[in-house]
Amino acid sequence: MHDETRLIHSSAQGPAFAGLSTPLVRASTVTFPTVDSFLRRQEQFYEGFTYALYGHPVARELETRLTALAGGRHTIAVPSGLAAITLALLATLRQGDHVLVPDTVYGPARTVCVGFLPGLGIETTFYDPLKAEGVQELLGHRTKLVWVETPGSLTMEIQDLPAIAALAHARGCLVAVDNSWASSLLHKPLQLGADIVVEALSKHVGGHSDLILGTVTVADETLFRRLKDTARFLGYGASPDDCWLALRGLESLGPRVRQQESSALELARWLAEHPAVAQVLHPAMATHQGHDIWLRDFQGSSGVFSVIFRPVPDAALHHAIEGLELFRLGASFGGVHSLVAPSNPRPSRSVVPWTAEGSLVRFSIGLEHPADLIADLDRALGSLPTAVA
Ligand SMILES: *Cc1c(COP(=O)(O)O)cnc(C)c1O
Repeated sequence: MHDETRLIHSSAQGPAFAGLSTPLVRASTVTFPTVDSFLRRQEQFYEGFTYALYGHPVARELETRLTALAGGRHTIAVPSGLAAITLALLATLRQGDHVLVPDTVYGPARTVCVGFLPGLGIETTFYDPLKAEGVQELLGHRTKLVWVETPGSLTMEIQDLPAIAALAHARGCLVAVDNSWASSLLHKPLQLGADIVVEALSKHVGGHSDLILGTVTVADETLFRRLKDTARFLGYGASPDDCWLALRGLESLGPRVRQQESSALELARWLAEHPAVAQVLHPAMATHQGHDIWLRDFQGSSGVFSVIFRPVPDAALHHAIEGLELFRLGASFGGVHSLVAPSNPRPSRSVVPWTAEGSLVRFSIGLEHPADLIADLDRALGSLPTAVA
């Protein structure tokens, strides 16, 4: 054998290495022992391995653990949370179909509904997330899917998922839930009536702001096959490296989210008393819209909440935010670094106008000590005028 060949064909098969972590397997090609098994590889498409685009051992391990956490039967890992949303929409909707979407849906998902689905002949109606019974009159004979996101992006409205699911199912519609705020640790939509759960693993599961990944989880076998087929048509596959990072994140999800929950509550309560703050939007606060439903349906709160400041000149608020030292300015949430994201819900509301006068800032609390975070806020917010000019 020549060196060139020897470099490629390793025959060394030592004893199995029993590391505690899931081995990182990088591959495109999957090999087969016989011609027959190779020619019949399509039969392995849903459960086995045929080509790494359609599944590999690291994704499978991640999918298995997330399926157990969500109380489902199958999970499909895809390249992003947004890809998970698009996959759920495209697998359940056809030309001529209609979907109901909450007015408070994640912004890029609204853009998909407004800018992409119409070209496929799929119509979206946005609905008031706080009026579960209002869904009834919007359900038409072409409605195939009701989307739920609870709490709503930025403004944190808690939706009555069991009530919405009952109305949708009575009309033969599927229900999909974006569970990114809570993760399956704190909220199990499949047990509350949902058929499909999507989650951005880029947030809590990844947990370190260094990966982009999403999942779709279902309890129904037929639905799983439709989703898996659609993922194949779209060429959606998740990279082994990202799945490996998500698996690592999963192992510390519990203590991270619990610490973030407790720090966020401490900060939210402190902010609620601050003279520059008009309102804190946090599902675990008794004054919050849908707090009773949150108590009933969730097992806790994550470190993500929003604050409406009293009206001040934009420049003053921007100056205060830029004066923060521990909080960094950026989108996303669920990482170990605390983040602030000034946001304006007004242009992305078509059913329930956003009428708050002051600016909204979303906070994602990380793993810094809460006392240091409060000191940082105290110093930076001290520059804000507290009386309305
Ligand atoms: C971030 C986010 C997504 C999208 O996740 P990506 O992985 O960033 O594409 C979807 N839904 C919600 C509610 C999110 O916050």
